[in-house]
Amino acid sequence: MQPQRIVSGMRPTGPLHLGHYFGVLVNWIQLQKEYECFFFVADWHALTSEYAAPARIRGFVPELVLDWVAAGLDPAKCTIFLQSQIKEHAELQLLFSMFTPLGWLERNPTYKEVKGELEGSKDLSTHGFLGYPVLMASDILIYRPQLVPVGQDQLPHLELTREIARRFNFLYGPLFPEPQAKLTETQKLPGLDGRKMSKSYGNAVYLSESLEQVTPKVMSMLTDTNRMRKKDPGNPDHCNLFPYHLLITEEQERAEITAGCTQSSLGCVDCKKMLLQSLERFLAPIQERRKKLEARPDQIWEILSAGNRRAREQAVKTLALARGKLNLEYPELARSRGK
Ligand code: SF4
Repeated sequence: MQPQRIVSGMRPTGPLHLGHYFGVLVNWIQLQKEYECFFFVADWHALTSEYAAPARIRGFVPELVLDWVAAGLDPAKCTIFLQSQIKEHAELQLLFSMFTPLGWLERNPTYKEVKGELEGSKDLSTHGFLGYPVLMASDILIYRPQLVPVGQDQLPHLELTREIARRFNFLYGPLFPEPQAKLTETQKLPGLDGRKMSKSYGNAVYLSESLEQVTPKVMSMLTDTNRMRKKDPGNPDHCNLFPYHLLITEEQERAEITAGCTQSSLGCVDCKKMLLQSLERFLAPIQERRKKLEARPDQIWEILSAGNRRAREQAVKTLALARGKLNLEYPELARSRGK
């Protein structure tokens, strides 16, 4: 039986950190084993908000693929491609934009939230930014997938894609499936300061960082604030460090940490040293693979080029069907060219 198809993408706006790894990548790495997966570098999407810095985005494209493959995405098991190289996405977006009501876009919660957050630093009163969910719908629907991996908070986005598919099918006849949410359990890892892990907060641990770079970050992390001295019993649930132990430290060691913390036999400095050892164990194989890939930079472009070919094959087919539904096929022109 043909495996179900999945589509998902990520913006090339910076190096990947542990938050990306546990929030998204870890799921993608699992999904590639069971599904037919299309994963794309969303460079056009990055431009919707970073339109003033195209050179930066260009620089992050190979970096993102490096991080993906180093983390465990296997180009033999999934299709890794670059959004802007499949021009069919843009034409389908144009067709979708003909019938997508403005109200659907204006009520998109992310639109208001991000626009408000960046008020003053970036002018996002643009056609591109308001319309990015239509581009997203096209990115997904052009591959006619059954599933889209999303977290609970992204369900409204997927609903908009489904609404666009429904409206197209209603107006022009059935073509697009309404993809279902493949709800992925996201393991949220807070930043080093307890806030959301983000490049802009300066509270992230990057997949490509060396132990020398990570050590001062971990050593200055805030722990349980009620624990002033080693002899005060601590509570791992109130400590910024423990969510990291939960994800990357072996179970037995974790049990020792909980016992040592609550019974005041383990100091926070030692606990941080244990976390550094866990981080080293966790990051070593990722960085090893990264080093091998960096030694042959052409490899990244070869992966993208092969992925683009596979993605384009599918996108061209869907777009031809969509054009047909909208009476945008002109065989007369092809015939007249032959004369
Ligand atoms: S011992 Fe570890 S878990 Fe407990 S408060 Fe200190 S750093 Fe946090």
